[in-house]
This record gives sequence, C-alpha cells and structure tokens, in this order.
Amino acid sequence: MTSLAHVTAVLNPDRPLLIVDADEVLLRFVEHLETFFLTEGFELRLTSFQLSGNIYCMQSNEVAPPAKVKQLIGLFFANCVDTVPAVPGAADALKNLSDRYEIIVLTNVPHDCRARREAALRELGFAYPVLSNAGEKGPAVKTLQAATTRHTTFVDDLPPQLASVASHAPGTHLVHFVADPRLAAMIDQAPDAHVRIDHWPSLQVHLENLAAATK
Ligand SMILES: [Mg+2]
Repeated sequence: MTSLAHVTAVLNPDRPLLIVDADEVLLRFVEHLETFFLTEGFELRLTSFQLSGNIYCMQSNEVAPPAKVKQLIGLFFANCVDTVPAVPGAADALKNLSDRYEIIVLTNVPHDCRARREAALRELGFAYPVLSNAGEKGPAVKTLQAATTRHTTFVDDLPPQLASVASHAPGTHLVHFVADPRLAAMIDQAPDAHVRIDHWPSLQVHLENLAAATK
C-alpha cells in the first residue's frame, strides 16, 4: 500500500522533488480512451480541450450526458488501466532525471486501481511510487513539498490542477504538459504554469537546468 504518509517518509529530503501526473503526461490516455469508447458505441470528437460535451453516442448521434461519461470513464479505468501506452521519450527522460530528482507519480485514478496503475507503469519503465488522488492535487503536493528541503516541480496537463497547486503549494515550479498533439493544439499555456513544454526530451533539459541552477 502506497500512501502519502509512506511516500513522504521514504523521500530523500536532500534532493529536489518531481511530481508528475500520469494521463497525458506519462501515458497516452485520450488516444486509448478513444479506442475504448468505440468498443462501447461512443465516439470522441475532439473539438475542445475537454471530454464532457465531446463524446457522442454513435447510434443516436447525441452528446452523451455527464452521468454516462462518468460511467464510461469508470469502465475504462476498470478495464483498461493496465494497457494505456506510454508517451514517447517519457521513460528515458525520467530515468535520466532520477539521478537528480526524487520522482513521484500523482494520478487521479480510482483508489482501487492504484496498484494496477503502479504495476502497469513499472512495466513501461516508470518504477516510481504512484499515489492515487481524487479531485484537486494541491493538498497532496503541499504535503509532499513539506518533505523536501529542495525545490518541488509539478507537471500536469490540466490547468485547474496547476491552479490548485499554485494555491496550496506556492513556490512549486509548475509545468504545463499536454502529450496528445490534437489536445495540445487546442489549449494555450495554463495561466498558473511557469512553462509549457509538450515533449519529454525538452522537459528533461529544462529540469536538468533547473536542478543545476538551484543547487
Ligand atoms: Mg492528466
């Protein structure tokens, strides 16, 4: 069982902390979700940076109501959490960064999927502690930030999560990262982010420079 208390207890406080989201940062979530929706008779039509309102029932051509979307996403995690493919370059970049950073994956999967997600990420080369979270991530980042004497970086695709961390854990370096090129083209840098980077090799260089500059 990996809990927030367990992770903060084992972190090396003398190394900077890198907290990364999984879906659309380490994992090609939307692409895989899209394939799953088709098997359920629904189609994702990406016309804006959100799922809600962009999922259509293929039979009726009607927008799926929010309750149906919630049910489909729950089904997706239950059925597919083990098989979401990795974002290119992510595993290599994090492996290189692990020389300098303590790395934690903070992901909004249902808590009963946490162990499966951790095992799936490990298979893909991401052998880092995985914390499941519900709702905003700011409070969890605040707790993690308090466990290091060095700087903390947070990487996520969703602007509200970057805003949450800006509010709860000020001083955290905030990276807006959107892996899917279609989604990336639909959204500008989040207002709270310090930088927008959508490719792991570039993010690796950015974070190496950051670690060197804050020694
Ligand atoms: Mg995400």
